[in-house]
Amino acid sequence: MDPKNVPAHEALQNRRKFLADLRCEGWPILTAKQIHSNGVFVFTGNRENFTSEIEADALLTRENGLLLGIKTADCLPILVADQKKRAVAAIHAGWRGTVEKVTEAALGRMTEEFQSNPVDLVAVLGPSACGRCYEVRSDVFTPFEKAFGKGEFLKWNEPGVSAWLDIKAANIRQLEKAGLKRENIFVLDGCTIHENGLFFSHRVESRIPHARVGRMLAVIGLSPS
Ligand SMILES: [Zn+2]
Repeated sequence: MDPKNVPAHEALQNRRKFLADLRCEGWPILTAKQIHSNGVFVFTGNRENFTSEIEADALLTRENGLLLGIKTADCLPILVADQKKRAVAAIHAGWRGTVEKVTEAALGRMTEEFQSNPVDLVAVLGPSACGRCYEVRSDVFTPFEKAFGKGEFLKWNEPGVSAWLDIKAANIRQLEKAGLKRENIFVLDGCTIHENGLFFSHRVESRIPHARVGRMLAVIGLSPS
């Protein structure tokens, strides 16, 4: 069966299998309503204070036995762990969130809330649209240049008209600026657009009439010590 056309009950089965493979059977997965912002939500263990309607693009916690989840299809998922202070973060960085510097906001909040030292942090960047496929126009590159400087992370296709945007590079810059060591930043190569057979891509699949665009789920959590 086409893995992209999975009925709801199979999607649930897949989620169970996913959790079993991670050895996290029965763990709740907390996901927020992602709104392409720099909003950060810190989960403190009170489930009554958390619903999937909470608007945030970065989730942080020090609680054990649950997973923070980010859903993407072209946007960049970033997972961060502080092994010393035992804290984790999951970040959703699309182009808007990147312009809003959601990654810097999340890391700043880790230091504030958990006294994380950025040199102790480890980050993983998941599959996203790559810098050779993610073509953007002035509605995107203009705010990008405003946020990062002329031509930063852009490779011009037609100068002033269209460019390719390297969203991973822009977020690596934010991680390094926040104080992470380059050797603690791990980048997965997958591209949702040119490897669309493996991944969901909003750009590719929303062009296909009647196609359902799925989302990938990136999770991070702390096991009970
Ligand atoms: Zn690509």
